[in-house]
Amino acid sequence: MEKELRLNTFQDLLYYFPYKHIDRTRLFYIHELTADMPFVQIKGEILSFEEKGVGRKRHLIAHFTDGKHVMDLVWFQSAAIKWARKQYHTGIIYIVFGRPTVFNGRINIAHPDIDPADSLSLSSMGLQPYYHTTERMKKSGMESRSIERFTKTLLEKLNGSTAVESQKAPMITVNETLPEWLIRRHALMPLGQSLRAMHYPLSADELRRATYRQKFEELFFIQLNIVRYTRARQQQSRGHIFRVVGNYFNTFYKEYLPFQLTGAQKRVIREIHKDLGCGRQMNRLLQGDVGSGKTLVALMTMLIALDNNYQACLMAPTEILAEQHAATFREFLKNMPVRVELLTGSVTGKRKRGPILEGVADGSVQILIGTHALIEDNVIFHNLGLAVIDEQHRFGVAQRGKLWKKNSIPPHILVMTATPIPRTLAMTLYGDLDVSVIDELPPGRKPIETLHFWEERSESLYRGIRQQVSLGRQIYVVYPLIKESEKIDLKNLEEGYALLCQTFPDMKISKVHGKMKPADKDAEMEKFASGETQILVATTVIEVGVNIPNASVMIIQNAERFGLAQLHQLRGRVGRGAEQSYCILVTKYQLSKETKNRIQTMCETNDGFEIAEADLRLRGPGDLEGTQQSGIAFDLHVANLARDGQLVQLARDTANYVLDNDPKQSLPGNAPMWRRLHELTKNQMDWSNIS
Ligand code: ADP
Ligand code: MG
Repeated sequence: MEKELRLNTFQDLLYYFPYKHIDRTRLFYIHELTADMPFVQIKGEILSFEEKGVGRKRHLIAHFTDGKHVMDLVWFQSAAIKWARKQYHTGIIYIVFGRPTVFNGRINIAHPDIDPADSLSLSSMGLQPYYHTTERMKKSGMESRSIERFTKTLLEKLNGSTAVESQKAPMITVNETLPEWLIRRHALMPLGQSLRAMHYPLSADELRRATYRQKFEELFFIQLNIVRYTRARQQQSRGHIFRVVGNYFNTFYKEYLPFQLTGAQKRVIREIHKDLGCGRQMNRLLQGDVGSGKTLVALMTMLIALDNNYQACLMAPTEILAEQHAATFREFLKNMPVRVELLTGSVTGKRKRGPILEGVADGSVQILIGTHALIEDNVIFHNLGLAVIDEQHRFGVAQRGKLWKKNSIPPHILVMTATPIPRTLAMTLYGDLDVSVIDELPPGRKPIETLHFWEERSESLYRGIRQQVSLGRQIYVVYPLIKESEKIDLKNLEEGYALLCQTFPDMKISKVHGKMKPADKDAEMEKFASGETQILVATTVIEVGVNIPNASVMIIQNAERFGLAQLHQLRGRVGRGAEQSYCILVTKYQLSKETKNRIQTMCETNDGFEIAEADLRLRGPGDLEGTQQSGIAFDLHVANLARDGQLVQLARDTANYVLDNDPKQSLPGNAPMWRRLHELTKNQMDWSNIS
C-alpha cells in the first residue's frame, strides 16, 4: 500500500481523504426502489441462485427478498460468479448495498456489496467513506474497506477513545495549524475535528464544513507563501519612479495613434501607469487574447519610460517575432524622433552590432527589440527603465531575473502572454506577478469560424483550400509534433506535404519544422510571409505570435492530439485581417468523450478565457502548461482551482491581512501557522531535490 499510494506515515493516511461518502443509516424496501436512485441498502435473504446465458453473456442471478417483494442481484464475469457462489448462501440475513437499475422491467443491483446483517451495526456506520485504491491493490484484496479499517483505527487513537494504547503504534496528536483568531474570524472547523469529519462525518453538514476548512487551509498556505515572498521582494527592489506622462506618450496618443483604444486597453494602461509611479518595481503580467492589442499597450508603456528619460526593451521568444515587433514599432513611430533598434542572433559582425551596442550603452537607442540576445553580458544599457517580455512561457524565471540585474535599480517588468489563464490560476501560478487583463477585442473583427472535419472528408477540404487560395488567401496546415513520436509525426508532415503538392500542382507550398536549420526555417517562413507561397505546412513552430494577416485559414491535422490551449493559440494565427477566417480541426473518426468535448468547445467559442476555464475543468490545473516550472508550491488534495475560485480570493485576502498585521512573523499567536508554512516549504524543497 505504501508504494501504491505513497502513504508512508500516519500523517499521510490521515490526509488520505475519501472521494465520497454514502449514507448507510437508512434501509429501503424493494417496493420503494427506482432506477434513478443512488446507492441504497436493503435487508433480506437470498431465495435461490440461477445461472443464465453462455460465453460473454453468462451471468449469475440471486433472487433476493425483503420478505414482501423480490428483486435480482446480478454478477457478470466468471471470476465474480465463482466468488459470489462461494461467498453467499440462502437462508442468511444480509444487508445488500448497491445502485439499483431496471432490466426487463425488474429492479436489480449488479455486483452489490453484501454483508451478513449481524456483522453490521448500521446506526454506527453513518456516512461511510469510500477511498480510491489502485488496480494492483484491488488485486491483492486491498479495497476501500481495508483502508477504512486503517483510518478508523487511526482516528480512534486520535480521539483517545480507545482505552488500550497500542504498544506498536505511537499515539498521534494533531496540532492546530491556524491561529485561534483566524479560525474564529472565518468560522472554520478546528483541524482535529475536520480531519475526523473528513473520514467519518456525523452529518452531511459536518462533512461540508470539514471540507471547507481543508480547502481553505490548502489554498491559504499557498497564498501565504506567495504573499510573503512577494512582499520580501518588493521590499528589496525599489523601482524607478516614472513621474511624468510627457511628449512622447501624448504626441503619439493625440497625433499618431491610428485608432481609438479599446476600453480594456485604456484601463490596462491606467493600471500600469499607477505601478510605474509608486516607487516599487512593477512586475506585471499582461494577459489578453491573441489580437487584443497587447503590443500596442507595450509600446505606449515604453513611451512613458522614454518620457522619463529611460530606455525600454522588448524581448521576444523567436527571431521572427522580434523582427515583426521591430517592424511594427517602427511603423507606429515613423513620424516621431525615437530610435528603435533590433538585436537578434542574426544581427552579427562588428559593423552591424557595434553601433547598436554603443547606442544602447550611451542611451541614444531608446527602444531595443530582440531575442535572448538582449540578455547577453555585452549588452549594457545606459538606463534601462522598462523591460517587456513577450509570451511568458518561453522564458524562465531565471531569464527574467537576468534582465533585472542589468541595472542597480531593476527595470519595471511587463510580461505579455496570450495564453489566457483563469484569474484564480494566475493568482496561484504567477502569484508574484500582478495581473492586468485585456478582455475586449478591437472593434470590427470578424469572429473566426471553426469547423470540425473527419479525416475521410478530404475532398471537401481540398475544395475549400482551392477556393480560398483563388480568393488570394493563404493557408496554414499544422501537424502535431510530440517528442515521443517525433519520427512518426515528421513522417505524417512529409506525407501531408507530398499529398498537397500532388493535389495542388499549381500552388507553391512551404514547409517548416523543428528539425530544419534555423536559417532554412526562416527562409521558408519568409516566403510565406511575403506571399510567395500560398500554403505553409508546419509543425507547431508557428504557434507563437506570427502575424500574417493574409493567412485566413488554419487547418490543424490530428487536432485530437492538441490540448485546448494550444488549439486556441494556433487558431489565433488567423483572423488578423479583414477577411472571414476559418479554423479547420481535422480528426480521426473515433474520439474519446473528452476529446469530443474539446473539439466542441473550440467550435462553439472564440473566447480565450472561456476556453481556459473549460481547459481547467477538463484537465485540471496540474496539466496546464507551465505548471511544473512555475512552482505552485504544494499539492492540492481537496481544493480545486477551477471550482474554488472564491476561496482562492479569500485565501489571498487573508494572507495579505496576516502579513499586514504580522509583517515580522513574530506574533506568538501565529507561531504554529508559520511553523506549518516552513514545514510545507521544506517538503517542497525535498521534492525538488529528488526529482
Ligand atoms: P496582440 O499582441 O494582443 O496579439 P496586437 O497588439 O498585435 O495584439 O494587435 C493586433 C492588431 O490589432 C494589430 O494590427 C494592432 O495594430 C490592432 N489594434 C490594436 N489595438 C487596436 C484598437 N484599439 N483598435 C483597432 N485596432 C487595434
Ligand atoms: Mg502579439
